[in-house]
Amino acid sequence: MSYATRDIRNVALAGHPGAGKTTLFEALLHAGGALTTAGTVERGTTVSDFDPMEKTRGHSIDIAIASIDHAPVSDRSYHLNLIDTPGYPEFRGPALSALAAVETALIVVDADTGVEHGTVRLMERARERGLCRVFVVNKIDHEQADCARVIAQLREMFGQEVLPLNLPADGGRRVVDCFGSASGDSDLGPVAEWHQRILDQVVEVDEGVMEHFLDGGEQGLSPQELHDAFERALREGHLFPVCFVSARSGVGVPELLQIAERLFPDPTEANPPPLLKRNGHGDEPLAVQPTNGGHVIADVFKIVNDPFVGKLGVFRVYQGTVRRDTQLFVDDGRKPFKVGHLFRLRGKEHVEIDEAVPGDIAAVAKIDELHFDAVLHDSHDEDAVRLAPTSFPKAMFGLAVQAASRGQEQKLSTALQKLAEEDPAFVVEHNAELNEVVIRGLSELHLRVMLERLKERFGVEVTTRPPRIAYRETISTKAEGHHRHKKQTGGAGQFGEVFLRIEPLPRGSGFEFVDEVKGGTIPGQFMPAVEKGVRQVLQTGAISGHPIQDVRVIVYEGKHHPVDSKEVAFVTAARKAFLDAISKARPQVLEPIVDLEVGAPEAQLGDVTGSLAGRRARITGTDGARGEVVVRAQVPMSELDGFAAELKSLTAGKGRYSLDFSHYEPVPPQVQQKLVEAYKPKHEED
Ligand code: GDP
Repeated sequence: MSYATRDIRNVALAGHPGAGKTTLFEALLHAGGALTTAGTVERGTTVSDFDPMEKTRGHSIDIAIASIDHAPVSDRSYHLNLIDTPGYPEFRGPALSALAAVETALIVVDADTGVEHGTVRLMERARERGLCRVFVVNKIDHEQADCARVIAQLREMFGQEVLPLNLPADGGRRVVDCFGSASGDSDLGPVAEWHQRILDQVVEVDEGVMEHFLDGGEQGLSPQELHDAFERALREGHLFPVCFVSARSGVGVPELLQIAERLFPDPTEANPPPLLKRNGHGDEPLAVQPTNGGHVIADVFKIVNDPFVGKLGVFRVYQGTVRRDTQLFVDDGRKPFKVGHLFRLRGKEHVEIDEAVPGDIAAVAKIDELHFDAVLHDSHDEDAVRLAPTSFPKAMFGLAVQAASRGQEQKLSTALQKLAEEDPAFVVEHNAELNEVVIRGLSELHLRVMLERLKERFGVEVTTRPPRIAYRETISTKAEGHHRHKKQTGGAGQFGEVFLRIEPLPRGSGFEFVDEVKGGTIPGQFMPAVEKGVRQVLQTGAISGHPIQDVRVIVYEGKHHPVDSKEVAFVTAARKAFLDAISKARPQVLEPIVDLEVGAPEAQLGDVTGSLAGRRARITGTDGARGEVVVRAQVPMSELDGFAAELKSLTAGKGRYSLDFSHYEPVPPQVQQKLVEAYKPKHEED
């Protein structure tokens, strides 16, 4: 089936866990004719949760992609690419990468439990990407559904811009249109009232439309005029439409498909994708032409390592048409690859296609060079193009891992690399010094799922233990340092002398090296050696063996010797001058502080806050709905040892938590003393 760019709608389903995204995904595919019967989450038969682990867990841990070719209102077929994203905060990495590929975010809200706080963050992320934001209120069939309350909540949180396009009626047994129609009754009052509100809001975006509306009322507006104004309001965030559905009974689902076709932007109408092109000075925005036959520009937003088909790169085409049997380059690589097979995805099924037009989503298989966020193109003019980076949550939760059986180290390393390719929030670090491999993710659950995948998909088992905490060192005051390095061993000697000053910099600003030497007391050719000596200390630390940050080093004076001055002499002199200065600058050990979010049954609120209090936590907020509480706190990373196990036992396995790096802070004096004492005996300088 062929279709044009204008017939495409790219939509991501987002929302908190349990809101019904997976069920809605299934219902949309069913209503759109892509499935004959809809599966259910309970029976593990959905298209989206096809991973065996997702089936047993009953919720999504990765994104799923499927498309619908549908002709609900017009005779033209329209092509809807639908991406289901996982709702749990720990699987935010894949969810965020999906937002890069679509024009519209459908934010699913549960009519039973109401709007959850995570919705604010989702809206913010969608706004950053320039997406149209549409709310879907699900479970209107639920006996405890309270649609009026949900609308009130949404309007309170996101403003008067939140307006329904349709309304539940007959207690959620059907929905009635209030965008195109102004008559009838609904569970939320007369349709006419909501119809008027939405018109008032939409016409505001354009003075011309507003005038016509004021002059002639609704009749003064042409359908095209209204459509254009609506689209603009949507694109500019002047309108956040709401649609009501029951994913379970199917009520409102065909209507949602129609609304997507009629009113959601196609790739030519949406806000321009955030593409950048490097030039001599930095990055500049790149305008793409999604409608013409120009050069191909596409971005890989998802990597799947499938044991059967191998590596699959899922990409969004921004410009040009990707055709089978043509050649594409990856980033600035010189060697092209051949598009041997081109696929459309439906859950785990792949359908071969001949071409992917601008705006479409497709996949290629078995191309090793592909990685998350790779840019595919067919001309070297596009070498320097990339997608504006998404700021992913920082992976803070770490585990040191080791292959459980000897001889599996290489296999482990390859498998971990593959998993990291798939999830931008999953990071693998190799610490050569400690010979330690640390995996980092957003929560304990996140890592546990990754380790299960490691076993299931790659047959590698590991043993784990807590990794070292990433402490840092800094100074708290200005100081001077000096060292004269002089060595006479037989023939030629070594001579170098360095005077320097150090100053604390604001937290998080890193390191600055300033050369203020006047009159060549340290000849220019030795300054790199001086900087090298300083940087050695920066890496190894001075008092506890951790890297130093937030320091400015100003070298202002020195002495050299015409024969004996050598690079190595200035490296040593600078290193010791720096250590000398640090010892007088009240050095401090810093520790990472994380933003922690804990979810637990309401009854355990006291236990959870008690446990946190014992871990030097500062509680920053609590809220919750329907039996679950969410506690947010700032906690030193080092205090989270054993928290996962404790939370599990306190909440009978129902608790969950996630972390985000926040900042560095000085450790309490007694902790500093311990760290310094543990380090001292082994590392005393001569
Ligand atoms: P997800 O975590 O957002 O993907 O949510 P799921 O699709 O897994 O749904 C969570 C639970 O809500 C499941 O038990 C679904 O059967 C149930 N559910 C989903 N949609 C509806 C609905 O429209 N009405 C009712 N009553 N339950 C629903």
